[in-house]
Amino acid sequence: MRYNNYINGQWKEPSTGEYSENQNPHNQEEVLGEFPISAAEDVHEAIAAAKKAFPVWKKLSFQQRAFYLQKAADILKTNLQEIGRDLTLEEGKTLAEGIGETQRAISILEYYAAEARQPVGDVIPSANPETFLYTTRVPVGPIGLITPWNFPIAIPVWKIAPALIYGNTVVIKPADITPKSVCHVMKAFDEAGIPAGVINCVFGRGSVVGAEIVEHPDIKAISFTGSNQVGLQIQDRATAKGKKVQLEMGGKNPLIVLADADVNKAVEIAVNGAFRSTGQKCTATSRVIVEAGIYEAFRDRLVERVKGLKVGNPLDDNTFMGPAVSKTQRDSVMAMIETGKKEATLLCGGEAPADEELANGFYVQPTVFENVPVDARIAREEIFGPVIALFKVRSYEEAVEMANDTEYGLSAAICTNNFTLAQRFVDDMDAGIVHVNSETAGAEPQVPFGGCKNSSTGSREQGKTAIEFYTQIKTVYMDR
Ligand code: NAP
Repeated sequence: MRYNNYINGQWKEPSTGEYSENQNPHNQEEVLGEFPISAAEDVHEAIAAAKKAFPVWKKLSFQQRAFYLQKAADILKTNLQEIGRDLTLEEGKTLAEGIGETQRAISILEYYAAEARQPVGDVIPSANPETFLYTTRVPVGPIGLITPWNFPIAIPVWKIAPALIYGNTVVIKPADITPKSVCHVMKAFDEAGIPAGVINCVFGRGSVVGAEIVEHPDIKAISFTGSNQVGLQIQDRATAKGKKVQLEMGGKNPLIVLADADVNKAVEIAVNGAFRSTGQKCTATSRVIVEAGIYEAFRDRLVERVKGLKVGNPLDDNTFMGPAVSKTQRDSVMAMIETGKKEATLLCGGEAPADEELANGFYVQPTVFENVPVDARIAREEIFGPVIALFKVRSYEEAVEMANDTEYGLSAAICTNNFTLAQRFVDDMDAGIVHVNSETAGAEPQVPFGGCKNSSTGSREQGKTAIEFYTQIKTVYMDR
């Protein structure tokens, strides 16, 4: 089946007339659909539509805008199973995760629809008794959204929902290899009757479509989620043009396991954090730092558990872990595993699964290394795949020092029953999100999401903090 761009309320063929085939990562011979390879011209048309729609959309009341978000949520809910399955087919995460992610997108829409009834400014006492002094929030304008493949419905929606509720119009460029999930979102808004031009979607290459969105003078802000390499380039180009920029990028997230932790519980936390969604989460656990007193027991239980994980077709009920999203991603993860074999000791995994049924897919075994030098590449670089680097430390202090020894600062977790050390950990970690006795991954829509150091720049996404990026403050002096 052939899909098209969504521009100015219509499904439009790309000006190039060209399409690319989207593959199922479980079976590369299965084509899931054909998606536009768009050109700058298509981007210009989408931005012109967003610009034209902006003055009318921003004048609607918050409740009027919320109506479309809630209706789109209801439509997605009606099609939850089908959309979750499509997401699994194109991204490779398990069906439960595909449905779960779609449910999360629905919750995000509902959350921001409800935000329409929340206060948006402050009343501030003035020095002048005659002055009514207050702040309000106004939208930024047409906004460019550039999103990655690993959460192909949740990440687009967590940008679209706040952008729209606060009165902005949007042009989104989803990741090239997972386009169908966003088609479902466009379809839902279309069926909800959202006015033409308020939301536009252009498919195609980042270097063409994404770059054009970043450069165009009528786009007033860019929200990007993806790699550091691309994000930092975008930041330079967009800020040079005076645009607001928000970047959510990589992670190298640590889990600390202290000697007093319950071994089985800590192993489950490590396994879920590292291997769910094939480790393709910016918040995935990639370094596990274990106190000496529990190290051998933890390592042995971890290896036993990892060897037992079912890797297979993500549509099968008993599959724990599906394939990598693409050949490029699989090859990049395998290259890091080969590096790891030279740098450290392989405990389990390290190959493609031997199962013949998986030979056409982009599969990698869940992999664990130990004896990892702190300066090894697998200790420092984001792998974005199912790989754990295991470290042994003598104390809490050494664990925290190692956990913080990274350019990233997205998420971090600790397993302990020691309340005092748990509290110290919350203070000591240079990370935007910290977990005590739960995995590094996870993001509820009502709380801020983002990191420090090289993981994020700009204000946080989600929750109440989203208003910072998607609006500007206006200070009002009202005198009689
Ligand atoms: P990516 O390669 O940086 O791509 C992200 C998006 O940018 C894609 O839509 C891509 O288009 C587009 N793009 C590529 N080059 C561009 C350019 N020159 N100008 C404008 N746009 C351009 O990242 P990815 O491989 O999709 O995603 C994996 C990365 O995302 C990991 O580093 C992960 O940690 C990070 N991530 C971070 C978070 C977070 O919230 N912190 C969440 C999820 C993922 P194409 O589709 O054509 O490549």
